[in-house]
Amino acid sequence: MGDANGLRDYRGKRDFGRTGEPSGRGAAAGEGRPRFVVQIHDASTLHFDFRLQVGDVLKSWSVPKGPPADPSDKRLAVPTEDHPLEYEEFEGVIPAGEYGGGTVIVWDRGDYEPLSHDRWGRPVDFAESLAHGHARFRLHGTKLRGEYALTRFRGGPDGAADDGEAAWLLVRTAGGGPGHAAPDPRRARSARTGRTLARVAAEDGEE
Ligand code: MN
Repeated sequence: MGDANGLRDYRGKRDFGRTGEPSGRGAAAGEGRPRFVVQIHDASTLHFDFRLQVGDVLKSWSVPKGPPADPSDKRLAVPTEDHPLEYEEFEGVIPAGEYGGGTVIVWDRGDYEPLSHDRWGRPVDFAESLAHGHARFRLHGTKLRGEYALTRFRGGPDGAADDGEAAWLLVRTAGGGPGHAAPDPRRARSARTGRTLARVAAEDGEE
């Protein structure tokens, strides 16, 4: 998860002269609840990117099948490098040949309530609960609402974020009723602009 690195991994992978992604040198955490965003990314493999604000960065996981609707449906979530807070707004086309080349839409976003507690019922710092490999939270998005949890089942806190070792599960927690099912990514529409991947690719792609 690379706390000590901050955005070094993120910046190291990208040429900001070529990609339209934010460099992350502007925004600082604002007041109020932390933010979340779910993007759909049509890269070498089509996937969802699930990001939760923790302090000044978006902690990030690549979720191949997207968030689950049903508590029995556990979704693989592979940690990726921390992203800058401005990434919540990012929708567009990363040029072919660049890191993550392909089209991105903002499928859902909003804020969330950290719900992690210790065994005595006291709230636990959210970054600490992620470092320990288990965090619960309630999403308040335009599509995703209710309780979810992320649990690490392989790799440890000291492992590199994207070394192919660490793996988590994203679940809808029981008791909250069914959640919003992940859409067919090719038909899904942006929560920001209403556009599909194809439309963003046509409008924002290179000539
Ligand atoms: Mn991605």
